[in-house]
Amino acid sequence: MTTKRVWILGTRVDDITFDEALPLIEQYIESRRPQQIVTSNTEFVMMARRDPAFAEVINKAAMVIPDGIGLLWAARLLGQPLREHVRGTDLVERLMAFAAQKGYRVFLLGAAPGVAEMAAANLTGRHPDLAIAGCYTGSPHPQDEAAIAQTIHQAGRVDILLVAFGAPAQDKWIARNLPQLGVPVAVGVGGVFDFMSGRVKRAPGWVRRLELEWLYRLVRQP
Ligand code: UDP
Repeated sequence: MTTKRVWILGTRVDDITFDEALPLIEQYIESRRPQQIVTSNTEFVMMARRDPAFAEVINKAAMVIPDGIGLLWAARLLGQPLREHVRGTDLVERLMAFAAQKGYRVFLLGAAPGVAEMAAANLTGRHPDLAIAGCYTGSPHPQDEAAIAQTIHQAGRVDILLVAFGAPAQDKWIARNLPQLGVPVAVGVGGVFDFMSGRVKRAPGWVRRLELEWLYRLVRQP
């Protein structure tokens, strides 16, 4: 099966569903080759327009899920509707249930000190069989890369790496580092650990509406 790709203002998003994403991720893990998953939304598209390096990271990823509903609206306006809203938080939830069932080991990287551990505790509370390989705060700064790589290597086998440094830093970090980590799948997850730990932090509603308004205008009259 080849996934249809939709291009929104030069940025790729995949016409993928939850039911298609999970077996694909399983294939990625079994292949042991590094594969990056991007959870895109309209803010990603706006950032990618100003930042060609970010656009390249998104466009070269193994999978770009339509995390933000704005992408579904934009794709429909472009006459290339996406079939499903694949919310990043929901994909992570399903992926963690799948990992628990398959015995895949998960590493949580990023967020404020202690937050990844709280998210991990929340996950193992709900999925007792889930193997957490480790948690590490780290930072997306290049001077931290060696310490993060060492921590991940010491964690033993890691099948899924969740990275919460916020976009675009987390996605650029994954593109730079994943090939050297010996980990097959990495997902940029933004504020998902905050959400799972109960410490929710989102952009104010007016910021999100403004971003959407911009994208809407751009799609209508590029
Ligand atoms: N973060 C981090 N290091 C940084 C910048 C951000 O660990 O240098 C974390 C932050 O604590 C939060 C996540 O990255 O957990 C980003 O959350 P945000 O809601 O900004 O991301 P979005 O979902 O909007 O991409």
